[in-house]
Amino acid sequence: MSSAVSDTLIRLGSEFHRRGWVLGTSGNFSVVVDRNPLRLFITASSMDKGRLLPEQFLEVDQDGRNTQGTTARPSAETLLHIAVVRVTGAEAVLHTHSVWSTVLSDIHAQAGGFFIEGYEMLKGLEGIETHEHREWIPILENTQDMRALASQADALLRRNPDVHGILIRQHGLYTWGKNLDSAARHVEILEFLFESVGRRRMMEPGIHK
Ligand SMILES: [Zn+2]
Repeated sequence: MSSAVSDTLIRLGSEFHRRGWVLGTSGNFSVVVDRNPLRLFITASSMDKGRLLPEQFLEVDQDGRNTQGTTARPSAETLLHIAVVRVTGAEAVLHTHSVWSTVLSDIHAQAGGFFIEGYEMLKGLEGIETHEHREWIPILENTQDMRALASQADALLRRNPDVHGILIRQHGLYTWGKNLDSAARHVEILEFLFESVGRRRMMEPGIHK
């Protein structure tokens, strides 16, 4: 993978860390290297996303195996990245663990998700031209069984081809894009929207919008 891609991922890790979206060693990032057969460039497991180094990435195949024969272990959530790029056709996937995605994914879990509507910032999502849009944010139950979670994400994305992100309950956000810039923009836009929705709920606890 080109060093420009790892440089961008390192910069995103540092920016997201500063904003509290990938604290500890949480989160993981990937970019499609090839489609046929599928290969992904992805962050190695358990690395501090605020201080990523070029050697803390690796390439995996369509089953999430390291293709380079090094000892680096791919992120435990690699199978989710693979499910997302397969179903959506995305070229990059970014996963974050912010406070607002964690809280909202819990409070709306019973309903399986929630809508965000009316906000100008919705226009930052690919293909959305107006604030008069209703964006469905689906939520999957969290589990350490990544194979099960990946197949649930696969089914969910096939049922909801228009969504721009998925929340995992009490865990965080998966979003993606047609390129890395688009995926990074989706993280910023969705995190802004989650915080707006979350803060508004606190001001008007009876309003569930
Ligand atoms: Zn995670």
